[in-house]
Amino acid sequence: MAILLDGKATSAKLQEEIRTRVQAHFTPENAPRLCVILVGENPASASYVRTKCKMAEKLGFRHEVYHFDADVEQSVVEAQIDACNADPQCDAVFVQLPLPKHLDAVALPNRVRPDKDADGLTRAAMGALLLGESNSFQPCTPRGVIRLLQAYDIALEGLDAVVIGRSNIVGKPISLMLQRHNATVTMCHTRTRDLAQHVARADLLVVAAGSPELVKGDWIKPGAIVVDCGFTKTPDGVIHGDVDFEAAAQRAAYITPVPGGVGPMTVITLMEQTLESALAHRG
Ligand code: NAD
Repeated sequence: MAILLDGKATSAKLQEEIRTRVQAHFTPENAPRLCVILVGENPASASYVRTKCKMAEKLGFRHEVYHFDADVEQSVVEAQIDACNADPQCDAVFVQLPLPKHLDAVALPNRVRPDKDADGLTRAAMGALLLGESNSFQPCTPRGVIRLLQAYDIALEGLDAVVIGRSNIVGKPISLMLQRHNATVTMCHTRTRDLAQHVARADLLVVAAGSPELVKGDWIKPGAIVVDCGFTKTPDGVIHGDVDFEAAAQRAAYITPVPGGVGPMTVITLMEQTLESALAHRG
């Protein structure tokens, strides 16, 4: 049976470190401040924002949610991002995705000043990642995955890593990060022929497809490390990962649970990057 890569427990340790650093450098009045742009009433987005705000509170951060109606004009959201960019008391700004169709979901997140981009998703952050520059914020989910693997002392060098999914927020950046840690990376996607055959030779498998139980247990190479970023809530309220957990755990050496694996690492990474921004601006 595989060892659980416990994101909740790993996040709890990082929370302690962050709280200590906040207390050492800030008073409650000038604590790190996270500003969230939320548009419309998408229940999943509202729930993600609540989770992030709760964690911010737990760590002694200040936080602000700018919540707009679903039919808000693009210029109004732009003006709010500009105001956050200019506000010396705002350390981190992020735009919760997805946005309603009439808004530009590329331009708006990119309007965030790179030095306040704790979500690590602006062109500047992605470009820095591609060029291997280390002085920039990084996309939170992939950075969180790397932190989780490091917390379990998993060496990445030389591993055959297979990533399923090529999104900008998970698949592409995790592939670059793994490559940077000297893994040999294969990227798979919807047009990949014979996904099972790629998975079967993966020492490390990272799945970010958003397709419940796409990866079957008997595809997994015995002794593999399995990271499941998938998070799909079905109408009955059950949360599914992209990997058949029970069957995969019989063959893998390490596996992330869903929930409780990658999700908590994403949130804590956002907090860590908010703290880093606050320290750089005002510490
Ligand atoms: P996305 O829809 O933007 O991208 C999915 C990718 O998977 C695409 O590149 C597509 O080619 C590939 N894919 C989809 N179905 C496939 C299939 N059957 N075979 C092979 N490739 C396939 O999704 P995303 O934003 O990258 O998110 C992926 C999953 O990760 C979702 O379930 C999402 O909820 C979850 N996620 C979780 C966190 C977290 O913090 N826990 C953060 C981000 C995303």
